[in-house]
Amino acid sequence: MKIEQLHQLFLQCNLISTDTRKIQENDMFFALKGSNFNGNTYAQLALNNGAKYAIIDEQEYDTSAQTILVDNVLETLQKLASFHRIYLNTTIIALTGSNGKTTTKELINAVLSQKYNTIATIGNLNNHIGVPLTLLSMTRTTEIGIVEMGANHQKEIEFLCNIAQPDYGYITNFGKAHLEGFGGIKGVIKGKSEMYDYLITNNKMIFVNANDTIQIEKTKSVNNFSFGNHSAKLADIQIDYINSNPFVYSSFNSLKIKSQLIGDYNFNNIAAAIAIGNYFKIPKEHIKAAIENYTPTNNRSQIIKKDSNRIILDAYNANPTSMSAALLNFEKQSGHKIAILGDMFELGNEAKLEHQNISDLAISLKIDKILFIGENFYHTLINSDKASQYKTFEDFKNHFKISKIENTTLLIKGSRGMALERLLSLIK
Ligand code: ATP
Ligand code: MG
Repeated sequence: MKIEQLHQLFLQCNLISTDTRKIQENDMFFALKGSNFNGNTYAQLALNNGAKYAIIDEQEYDTSAQTILVDNVLETLQKLASFHRIYLNTTIIALTGSNGKTTTKELINAVLSQKYNTIATIGNLNNHIGVPLTLLSMTRTTEIGIVEMGANHQKEIEFLCNIAQPDYGYITNFGKAHLEGFGGIKGVIKGKSEMYDYLITNNKMIFVNANDTIQIEKTKSVNNFSFGNHSAKLADIQIDYINSNPFVYSSFNSLKIKSQLIGDYNFNNIAAAIAIGNYFKIPKEHIKAAIENYTPTNNRSQIIKKDSNRIILDAYNANPTSMSAALLNFEKQSGHKIAILGDMFELGNEAKLEHQNISDLAISLKIDKILFIGENFYHTLINSDKASQYKTFEDFKNHFKISKIENTTLLIKGSRGMALERLLSLIK
């Protein structure tokens, strides 16, 4: 079936679904394959549960007038998304970067939805499946779409840009994340810059953090709109950091904006949202209200109070850049402080060195106790009696009486796979 024809059928449907458990009446089901499942085997169930059509790629499941056999379901989903993108009347803003994409995306969405009909990536659906699904969730009434793009290897961002065909783009930062797949920090810069390559080639616009020297260097002579603090003299708009105590406060156009986000690093995320809101002519009071009302979700830098303790839960993910930012910020907190740090994944050959660096940094800071959990941190060299190492979460649980902690501020941070949010129920 031609993609035009499939698109006509898609327009008669409600939403795209890839999961029979969540299907709704009139959805179009895409029978994707994973390492442990084959969506084709669920096609009939999807139809029984109300799907209008099921897109499959194995002939033996082509059993009904509502099944549509294609060569490859995933590729068909991606092609349908790029076809749909051209059909839409939507302005697309794409975001990538090593850290802060989801937070920035949500802040931008909060700001732009004050005036426009917007659709943003749901949660963290930022890959070769999530980006098509995000685009397919937009309609011709969507004025602005905000699309998060994640990548852990070269050519991924180029691929996603070709599907989403953004009009604007922003790279949050170039940091030490997914070093394994990208081949080191130079590889990260190259891989993320594929977004710039797309925008420049297609004569589109780039939002630039003028305090980031790499961003400035890469976008010097191209269409851009830049934001920065008072030291970035050439920035198109000035947004200043006031303080974080613990919530980040910033100022813009003589307005003070009090966020509900902790961690200095969130200043850049907030500044990007202010700048983009300003560019799209959102009144400044509305920008302020949108940012002040936004609260983070999913264990991303949340503050939780429990009896006499205060927990900074940042267990959503970790890499050397976000880990050192979180530690430097944590040092500024007052009172008795304990950091519980879990391994950082996907660092490849640099895992040993990066864990050592973080371990040295943590020990050098004014933090009373540091507890390391995980195989990598277990093998770092520590010369300090304020630090302890545990090979696994179970070891930690069995040997450290976390329930005895009182009157303390705790930082909990580690890679997603460490699932350190499990500690929450153990702390009094
Ligand atoms: P993912 O790669 O999982 O999609 P992301 O780029 O979407 O991550 P967020 O989910 O917004 O990032 O934030 C994850 C964590 O990254 C935060 O909890 C915080 O620790 C850290 N972080 C957020 N913004 C920044 C930043 N600008 N610089 C450094 N670290 C940051
Ligand atoms: Mg994300």
